[in-house]
Amino acid sequence: MVSRVIPVDPFDLVIFGGTGDLARRKILPGLFRRYCAGQMPPESRIIGAARSDFDDADYQEFVAEAIREFGGGRACEDGTLEAFLERLSYVPVDARGEAGWTELAALISGSTLVRAFYFSVGPSLFGDLAERLHQHGMADEHCRIVVEKPFGRDLKTAEALNATLAEHFDESQIYRIDHYLGKETVQNLMAVRFGNLLFEPLWNSQYVDHIQITVAESVGVGGRGEYYDKSGAMRDMVQNHLMQLLCLIAMEPPSKFDPGAVRDEKLKVIRALDPVEPHHIVRGQYSASDDGPGYRDAVGDPRSTTESFVAMKVGISNWRWAGTPFYLRTGKRMVDRCSEITVVFKARNHSIFDEVQGQHRNVLTIRLQPNEGITLGVTIKEPGPGGMRLIDVPLDMSFAEALGEDGGDPPDAYERLIMDVIRGNQTLFMRGDEVEAAWAWTDPIIEGWNKRGDVPKPYDSASTGPGDSDQMLARDGRTWRPVSP
Ligand code: NAD
Repeated sequence: MVSRVIPVDPFDLVIFGGTGDLARRKILPGLFRRYCAGQMPPESRIIGAARSDFDDADYQEFVAEAIREFGGGRACEDGTLEAFLERLSYVPVDARGEAGWTELAALISGSTLVRAFYFSVGPSLFGDLAERLHQHGMADEHCRIVVEKPFGRDLKTAEALNATLAEHFDESQIYRIDHYLGKETVQNLMAVRFGNLLFEPLWNSQYVDHIQITVAESVGVGGRGEYYDKSGAMRDMVQNHLMQLLCLIAMEPPSKFDPGAVRDEKLKVIRALDPVEPHHIVRGQYSASDDGPGYRDAVGDPRSTTESFVAMKVGISNWRWAGTPFYLRTGKRMVDRCSEITVVFKARNHSIFDEVQGQHRNVLTIRLQPNEGITLGVTIKEPGPGGMRLIDVPLDMSFAEALGEDGGDPPDAYERLIMDVIRGNQTLFMRGDEVEAAWAWTDPIIEGWNKRGDVPKPYDSASTGPGDSDQMLARDGRTWRPVSP
């Protein structure tokens, strides 16, 4: 199946932090892939702006290396990389000083192309960048800014950041990135829910026993120890990624698939979340193993009480979901890398077969990574003679297999989201009030830990987290899904 690529309008994209890790690994190789796919019009320009003392040629060499290392376009023809590099220039800029701003303004002034500024720098610089763009006349009402995570570290800082950006930009110009929302399967989740008649009538507490969301990483904190230790799994993963997935799975059907309608429905879910009881949360910290240091060694603080794992039971107080628990779990150094959402339907209320009541249930699994796809577990007769014995088998839809080579290699989340910025489509970006509502729900949980002097439970590396997490579900007569790709 050949996917249809619709080119976006030509654009000027300024990447503040254009020499940083995120630009090198994701943004620039992603832009090149869109160029190869024919989605990025050749007259577009990409302007790196950062502290490094590069000129255009240095930057082009930097970007060429990034593309070689982190994946260029599959179908690129000879000469394409060179043509792409010609679209690149570089201006040394200091977000906190005057250096570079006049040059940057001169470079883009007079251009009528779509104008976007990607803030791929630490959040402490977001306000400086907004202010300087305004001072130098670049923050006109048509431009867009892309803001990286973390968006605040609690409600107060998120509100302050929103207020700072609002001084110079309208909400319609602000694109807060959560790259989980750019994943193909996440969007497919909406297509499955709202594009099929099959699921929506069953999508409520009458038919759904519970829902699990797992985002497991097999790696530890690596070189991000210092940053991570100030954040922890709750701030780094739950407040944004898991919360966004929860919203998409739980929200009411929007009246249409447009940014305002979708984000209104997501916000309603966050506002309907119950406060979480302390005995409905388990925090963990991974221990040392043959494969690497334990969490405290990795972050260089032998007394750190920051969690690298969190599991929780969450309730949503609304007509659709009251009574159906959502179990969320995320952690580092877990047994495998696996992100998935599982909808476990209730058992049939009467069986005509000779089976243990409740043994067979339909289970819908939406895999985000790796092997993006959707599986529906259905009950059938075990083949062969010997009576009516039931077994559960997966109706498996691997996107790679179902959609063939082209559809099976969809754009990376960052590529898709950057193209959405250029198109001016905010559906897959977080609105300011959504972010604040998510912090308003998260803050009391973190404050509770701090007040109680809560210490995370140790867990073995390459495991599924502390045993308390399994016990939390066992108390409800349930079990976690295996963490496996
Ligand atoms: P980095 O430290 O690798 O790069 C920072 C960039 O900012 C560099 O290009 C540097 O020159 C520039 N910079 C620093 N101070 C500056 C100043 N005063 N003026 C102008 N430029 C300045 O950081 P990163 O890992 O690329 O992360 C960038 C942002 O993206 C951060 O907000 C981070 O939280 C977020 N993020 C990163 C990742 C990732 O995988 N790296 C993932 C998600 C979010």
